[in-house]
Amino acid sequence: MTDRYAVIGNPIAHSKSPSIHEKFAELTGEDIRYDAILAPIGAFSAVVAQFVSAGGKGANVTLPFKEEAFALAHELTERARSARAVNTLIFRGAAISADNTDGCGLTRDLRLNLEFPIQRRRVLLLGAGGAARGVLLPLLAEQPAAITIANRSVAKARQLIDLLPTGEGGVVSACGYEDLAGDSFDLVINGTATGLTDTPLALPKGLFRPGSLAYDLVYGRDTAFMRQAREEGAARTSDGLGMLVEQAAESFFLWRGVRPPTRAIVSAMRAV
Ligand code: NDP
Repeated sequence: MTDRYAVIGNPIAHSKSPSIHEKFAELTGEDIRYDAILAPIGAFSAVVAQFVSAGGKGANVTLPFKEEAFALAHELTERARSARAVNTLIFRGAAISADNTDGCGLTRDLRLNLEFPIQRRRVLLLGAGGAARGVLLPLLAEQPAAITIANRSVAKARQLIDLLPTGEGGVVSACGYEDLAGDSFDLVINGTATGLTDTPLALPKGLFRPGSLAYDLVYGRDTAFMRQAREEGAARTSDGLGMLVEQAAESFFLWRGVRPPTRAIVSAMRAV
């Protein structure tokens, strides 16, 4: 029997998740159907309940429901707890387990697709919103030398450190953009919402080391941050398309126990 999955969000028509999961199913031979469901604001839990009673086995959750999904879950992984937001739900009877695969999607993209391992490297994470919260613990699991979180509101960056499990925050520090002057990094990640605008961040000069990578979580465009990074000497830039495909692959793995191939899908999506 075909197992049902879906991505739930608002808006949802733009979502690439159905076509990514259809491709995964085709490549692995798994018998699944994956739909996009528009949930009205205020009706997320009702939409989930309806999907479960219609036989749904799991769901991805996207904006603006990731925090609501976190609150709805009965069981959470550590990375979901630290992110305070979830993008993957697993339905087993009445029980809802939840995970956040965004950060793992980023680290797998860095390691496997971009071949940029970050062990012992210095990482700068720009932004302290939901996306930054979701990637921090998985980044730390890669054992970088240090992670600096820089945000417009420094208090919000400090809160991210407070949310980490005890003992995990040793190599993490928080600051404002102006405090970055004189420092340099191997990897600079733009986790702010500015990726969708054409306004570059007010970053000090000299942030990029030789061989450094600038990564924007936003996908599908050469962002102002990526252009700014190239002008400032970053050796490479990447958008977040690989992260999108890898977070989907991790969800697929959680649901089906099978890891789909991803690299060819990322290349094919870039070519469109
Ligand atoms: P939030 O709204 O939770 O956070 C926004 C962040 O951007 C905050 O740190 C905020 O700073 C900062 N910011 C907003 N405007 C400015 C500005 N003009 N100048 C400087 N900083 C600014 O958003 P999310 O964290 O949920 O999302 C961030 C991005 O990540 C989105 O573009 C999203 O599309 C992308 N994303 C990509 C994924 C992928 O799979 N590739 C997965 C998840 C997200 P402050 O706190 O000071 O207000």
